[in-house]
Amino acid sequence: MKILMTTLGLGFLMFSVACQSQSANRQVNDAQLSAAVKSKLTSDTRLASLTDLDVKAENGKVSLSGEAESEEVKRLSEETAQGVSGVARVVNNLEVTPKAETAEAHFVDFAGNPVGTALLTEESGGVKFHFKLNKLPAGFHGIHVHEKGDCTKPDFKSAGKHFNPEARQHGAANPKGFHAGDLGNIEVGSGGTADLEVTAPQLTLKASDHSLIRPGGTAIIIHAGRDDEKSDPSGNSGNPIACGVVDKAAYTHTAIHTNR
Ligand code: ZN
Repeated sequence: MKILMTTLGLGFLMFSVACQSQSANRQVNDAQLSAAVKSKLTSDTRLASLTDLDVKAENGKVSLSGEAESEEVKRLSEETAQGVSGVARVVNNLEVTPKAETAEAHFVDFAGNPVGTALLTEESGGVKFHFKLNKLPAGFHGIHVHEKGDCTKPDFKSAGKHFNPEARQHGAANPKGFHAGDLGNIEVGSGGTADLEVTAPQLTLKASDHSLIRPGGTAIIIHAGRDDEKSDPSGNSGNPIACGVVDKAAYTHTAIHTNR
């Protein structure tokens, strides 16, 4: 009887030691598996838009959380994780959060020197323009979207007239106004720089006759003088002094701080 008890006890001891080491192994395997899945997902260029990615593994069950740009990226992430050796099941908790439509413009002066950027973002109230300008004359300058994406130096006449899909007259203070591309004035400080935002309610980056993304493109022009916001066709704002083609490039945080 005593021998049986001892054998049972020893057996139990061995069993619990085995369980503990199995559980320790499992923890190591879980960590390795989640690291392997994370590495696979972050190295896949098709999944470059995944953000805040967190991967947890438990007994071969892998949970993905974070933000995916589209349903397609969410699906591809799951498929890619499923393909990693050792993954039995994928729980896909990725949240689909579409990125805003954006575009950029990089301004040059009549000599072709870079003088700043505009970052354009589609918002519910129209297109928001964030201007970061430099090396410009201090004071107020009329600023408008023109109907062609062509900034041929030195006079930028190639950009055509103000973007005007509704065939109205120039300026917010004009009873027959205004052009969809009229952005009013910007004020450049004494150091020649400006950092400001303007929202244009009648513009969009999406497919539409009011879209800045159109065949032949559009451009933003900064004029020498102040726009009176009522004189047709250009608010007596003088000659163009800087021009930037609207370019629907992927938004990068560095782009807005760099003059290309
Ligand atoms: Zn105008």
